[in-house]
Amino acid sequence: MKATIQVDLDSLWTYRRYLNQESAKGAIDPVYSEGVEIFLDIFRRNSIKATFFVIGTDVLIPEHARVIKQIAVEGHEIANHSMRHSLNFSSLDDETIKEEIKNSHEVLERVSGQRVMGFRAPTFSINERVLNILVELGYVYDSSVLPSFIAPLALNLAHTIIGGKLRNVAGANIRFANSPLCLYRPDIKDMGKAGQGKLFELPISVVPSFRLPMHSTYVFICGRWLFDWGKRELQQRQIPLSYSFHGIDLLDINKYGLKLPLFGSIEKRKNICEYIVKRLKSECELMSTLDLVKNLERCA
Ligand SMILES: [Zn+2]
Repeated sequence: MKATIQVDLDSLWTYRRYLNQESAKGAIDPVYSEGVEIFLDIFRRNSIKATFFVIGTDVLIPEHARVIKQIAVEGHEIANHSMRHSLNFSSLDDETIKEEIKNSHEVLERVSGQRVMGFRAPTFSINERVLNILVELGYVYDSSVLPSFIAPLALNLAHTIIGGKLRNVAGANIRFANSPLCLYRPDIKDMGKAGQGKLFELPISVVPSFRLPMHSTYVFICGRWLFDWGKRELQQRQIPLSYSFHGIDLLDINKYGLKLPLFGSIEKRKNICEYIVKRLKSECELMSTLDLVKNLERCA
């Protein structure tokens, strides 16, 4: 079974914005000063090459740029997560979307020394307009489709519990609930369906039978059984696994005054993360997202 591990480097300011909290401009973010190194250490110990989706504006801070350089030097893929991580990315006008992708692309290539070929929309807010712009800019893949009807409902629930600006977050679109679970070439008129488009879409893995999200946030809330269940089903159906973590997953967020309910203690989260990485390493053929896309390209 082929698999890829991804880390969305969403800095603390992105969460503070959801919660209507102020963040200091230009400050060094704990995701960069602490979070990344914990992931790199786990990946080093397990000899894994992963993919980091990075927000362009963060990399304008020299200390952050050095961290991105280090990630690249260690052989991980750097991918684009937009310039400013807008709350409702796919609703921006074409010109702004293009600028968001291009500006981030330029800074990430300059800092990492890599060719950046993959994109993930902030909060999984993707549509055909974004996809066409990615094609125009020569991207190889997008990985923003979360094929689940649970995720949009969960976002509404989170808004009720947490409040803040979460109501303005576009999040995963319910129209992708029945989209393919494997790599596919999206139809340019309806990207939820396979078609003849140039770009590849690598959906974020869900538990196939109930289309339950199984990325790190859900496993922290529900427990390891969710990952075990999803992995078993994906393996039975021979679907490659695209597993997503977040930069804050291994941070003591209480230390920074960030209250995310049900997220669990730092020890619990570290144990879950180590468990998932070790299982993927010992039972799967792990590679960066770009390599996985190239590997699967032949059968898509
Ligand atoms: Zn993000």
